[in-house]
Amino acid sequence: MIHEHRVLNPATEELVATVPATSAAEVSTAVTRAAQAQRTWAALAPADRARLLRRFAVLVDDHRERLARLEVTEAGHTLGNARWEAANVRDLLDYAAGGVERLTGRQIPVPGGIDITFLEPLGVVGVIAPWNFPMPIAAWGVAPALAAGNAVLLKPAETTPLTAQYLARLALEAGLPEHLFQVLPGAGDVAGRALVEHPGVAKIVFTGSTRVGKEIMAGCADRVKRLTLELGGKSPNIVFSDADIETAAAAAPMSFLDNAGQDCCARSRILVQRTVYDRFLELLVPAVASVVVGDPSDEKTQMGPLISLAQLERVRGFVPDGADGIRGSAPTGAGFWFPPTVLTGVAPDAPVATQEVFGPVAVVLPFEDEEDAVRLADATDHGLAGSVWTRDVGRALRVSRAVRAGNLSVNSHSAVRYGTPFGGYKQSGLGRELGPDALAAFTETKNVFIDTEA
Ligand code: NAD
Repeated sequence: MIHEHRVLNPATEELVATVPATSAAEVSTAVTRAAQAQRTWAALAPADRARLLRRFAVLVDDHRERLARLEVTEAGHTLGNARWEAANVRDLLDYAAGGVERLTGRQIPVPGGIDITFLEPLGVVGVIAPWNFPMPIAAWGVAPALAAGNAVLLKPAETTPLTAQYLARLALEAGLPEHLFQVLPGAGDVAGRALVEHPGVAKIVFTGSTRVGKEIMAGCADRVKRLTLELGGKSPNIVFSDADIETAAAAAPMSFLDNAGQDCCARSRILVQRTVYDRFLELLVPAVASVVVGDPSDEKTQMGPLISLAQLERVRGFVPDGADGIRGSAPTGAGFWFPPTVLTGVAPDAPVATQEVFGPVAVVLPFEDEEDAVRLADATDHGLAGSVWTRDVGRALRVSRAVRAGNLSVNSHSAVRYGTPFGGYKQSGLGRELGPDALAAFTETKNVFIDTEA
């Protein structure tokens, strides 16, 4: 069994920290403590819970730069992205705090009495997070779960536990009850599995690979445990001939190169109407070449390294030597670097065109018409996101509605917003996070009938 995890800086391969791995027995102790803390938390007046969460948000804001620098060091994110991510945690906490006093049930007309519903907290919630956006993705679960009156046990990814631990310290400093929000770093198949299997954990929020998501779903089935899954993607970027081709080509590189392509919403399948295919490629070549790849702590850098050697090898495995396409440049030497890569002449059913690469690699495929575009867009097991570029508003809506994916953007590659629902179709996930209903997903609806005739 692994007793500790070594956290490396992916840009330099230097050791950043060594973090003890939580055992299954320690998870069990954490669950017991969390259950106690949850009762104290749920008994507080809603306005007091909201106030404490707002104080937590203020502290995150005060520590934004340090959190961002930590994200750069442990995850290789560019400084600009990391600053946005730390601010996003603050915003998620603020947004969730606003929901505490608005978490209302309903009064339903029935004969013979009064019927009311309550949205009760679930109890202890387990959040299992990936390494690609360690801070925001953890907060997508943590903030609304706490706001709805639950305790949270967060299992960060093995490679990126440091920002999660920092956030837990800030929660304590803000005055949240001890043990209400605990971070349990450790191996997925030990600490993660222990959360899934523990009868005292009422819900699992999992973000990660589709393979592990399926295992967790099976584990939860055994106890009919509540579950949200945010899994992989292979999202299309559909460019019609009536689009502003210059703008579409200029925006395409960062839609799959942001976070070095380690983004579940990466628009890694660029589908271009055949009549503008050559023109689009002509414009894409300088756009890809202009992306600044290098030291993530430099403010001008747009793309940093991959997270680990294992991820680098996985990405390499998708790109045959000498494949046709467009390539940018990347540093050589220490660090897990892969250059921006766009492959042309790839078969639409090739693994690189249908499977999630999770690296700075996209394919460009031509399509004939609207029907063909939707068919190609849907030709994967995933259905997380997608973009549609056209000046025809009717077509924009038709195609957005037709593509079987959870998050579409028109004439943009919109990022995830805390105020709008997010989640996947097909094997990209189960349930929705964020948005106006985020807190309700961490409650059970209880129905109470009061007889007024008795
Ligand atoms: P992963 O599935 O390997 O690991 C995710 C988390 O699960 C980690 O904390 C890991 O330790 C834990 N884990 C692993 N095995 C486990 C087990 N048997 N039981 C319980 N927990 C276990 O994923 P990753 O490589 O860290 O992240 C990359 C993946 O995440 C990509 O596929 C990406 O698309 C996906 N992702 C999805 C979204 C979304 O919102 N849909 C967002 C970001 C990332």
